[in-house]
Amino acid sequence: MQASASEMEDKRREGRPADRERCGILLDFDHTLFDTDRFFWVDLKSAFTRFGIPDDAWESSYDAIWRSGYSLVKHFDELARVSAIRGPDLRKTMLAAFDADFSDLRPYLFPDVPGFLKAARDRGFDLILLSFGDTAWQSYKVQASGITPLFQRIVYTAKPHGKAEMVDEIGSRYRALYAIDNNPADLDAMKARNSDLQTHLICRVETLSPEESDRKDPDRFREAARYLTIPARLPHHRCRSLDEVSL
Ligand SMILES: [Mg+2]
Repeated sequence: MQASASEMEDKRREGRPADRERCGILLDFDHTLFDTDRFFWVDLKSAFTRFGIPDDAWESSYDAIWRSGYSLVKHFDELARVSAIRGPDLRKTMLAAFDADFSDLRPYLFPDVPGFLKAARDRGFDLILLSFGDTAWQSYKVQASGITPLFQRIVYTAKPHGKAEMVDEIGSRYRALYAIDNNPADLDAMKARNSDLQTHLICRVETLSPEESDRKDPDRFREAARYLTIPARLPHHRCRSLDEVSL
């Protein structure tokens, strides 16, 4: 009996060996495609400063809430709780200003990202975005970056092993599978599940001279630099740009 179109589609989704013709790329979002430090620690923090919120109150309120999943609403609530923001009018004014300033986050994509994603799609690669963190917050950043239409699948996970589980789920569907991430621990966990995975450890942190470092905002690579201290247990191709990832 001939398989129906939907059965064929199901077979494709299941990734039976006969369908393993495609190649896929698993892409991390923060610090890999998106310059999270410049967006969050430099520009968003400055936006609060313009409304008179002291840096130390901003940071301590951030520390108080991020573990349960970051959101601007939680951050505002905490700032209100410690009386750093007083009254509903200021909050409303700030939210309206942030909506205007941060609704288009395309400028925070690293410059090589649009060209790389488009070239990969043109060559028939499936693109899968694996984003770790609070779903609503991650979804806002991804959508506002304008890259959603280029991805076949977007997965938000707050589970520490969520990315590795995704490799388990889809690894057998692809003839070749690549992973690009700035976190060596995530790449280790993914590669441990699938030794054929071609892993690329990307570092976007610029190496600055001492004079340049003095001039730069100390938070410019605040989170991204922390990943440099995480050792990699397994070998990964190291790169500083997506242009160095050969597909
Ligand atoms: Mg990342």
